[in-house]
Amino acid sequence: MQLTVLGAGTCVPVEGYSPAGYVLRRAEDVVLIDAGPGTLARLERAGIRYRDLKLVLFSHLHPDHTLDLVTLLQANNATPGWKRTEPLQVAGPRGMRRFLERLYQAFEGIAPEAYEIRVDELGESQHDIGGWHLATGLTGHTPNSLAYRVEAEGHTVVFSGDAAAVEPLARLARGADLLVCECSFPQGWATSDHLTAGQAGEVAHAAGVKRLLLTHLYPAALEQDPARQAGAMFAGKVDLARDGYTTDV
Ligand SMILES: [Zn+2]
Ligand SMILES: [Zn+2]
Repeated sequence: MQLTVLGAGTCVPVEGYSPAGYVLRRAEDVVLIDAGPGTLARLERAGIRYRDLKLVLFSHLHPDHTLDLVTLLQANNATPGWKRTEPLQVAGPRGMRRFLERLYQAFEGIAPEAYEIRVDELGESQHDIGGWHLATGLTGHTPNSLAYRVEAEGHTVVFSGDAAAVEPLARLARGADLLVCECSFPQGWATSDHLTAGQAGEVAHAAGVKRLLLTHLYPAALEQDPARQAGAMFAGKVDLARDGYTTDV
C-alpha cells in the first residue's frame, strides 16, 4: 500500500499543513480517509481523480475533516460533460446519515442525482467495506469519533482520527506497520479532546507499532519539535507529516 497525506494540519491555516485528508492506494483501488477543505484539489495533485473514488471514510464530523465532502458531492453532479453514475460508499461515525441529510438541505445541488450513496455508520467493530478490511475503535475525541485500522496486501496502517485517549487507540493499533497519529499539541499541553506529542509516542509504544507518523499538527505542536517529544516515549521510527508526504506501507 502507499499512503499520501493530503492534509497534515487542522482548521488553523498553516502553509504545508492543510486540514485533514489521507489517501491509501493499493494495486486495484484507493480509499480516501477524511476530507477537510481543499482535500479534493490535493487529491488531484497526488494523481488521483475524484471520479475514481469508490469509498470515503470519515473519522468524525468536524469541518476540518469533512468540508470537502460537499465539494465531492457537487463535483459528482456538476462536472461539465460527466455525471457520476457509480455508487459511492461512505462510512463514518454514528450520525453520518443525518449529517448527509443536513448537508443536502444546507447546500443546493449536492444531493446525488444519477448515482447512489451507500452509508455505513460504524461503532467499534470489524468491517469489510468496498473490498477493504477495516476495524474501528472509539477515540474519545467526540462520543462517536472513530480510529480506523486498515489491512491490505499483508500490511496494516492505523489512522487515529482525532483522539483523546491513549489506551483504546493503542489496543486498535496493536502491532501495526504504521500508526498515523494525531499530535495536536506539544508535550505538557494536555486537553480532554486531543493528544499531545508525548501521548502519541505513548500510543505507539504501548501498541508496539513499527513506525509513527505525526499529523493533525496545530502551530503550537509544530513549534516544539513534536517528533523529538514523541520519540522520547517510543523507540521506533517517528516521522512528521506534511501535505504531500508519501510513504509505502
Ligand atoms: Zn481535527
Ligand atoms: Zn475534531
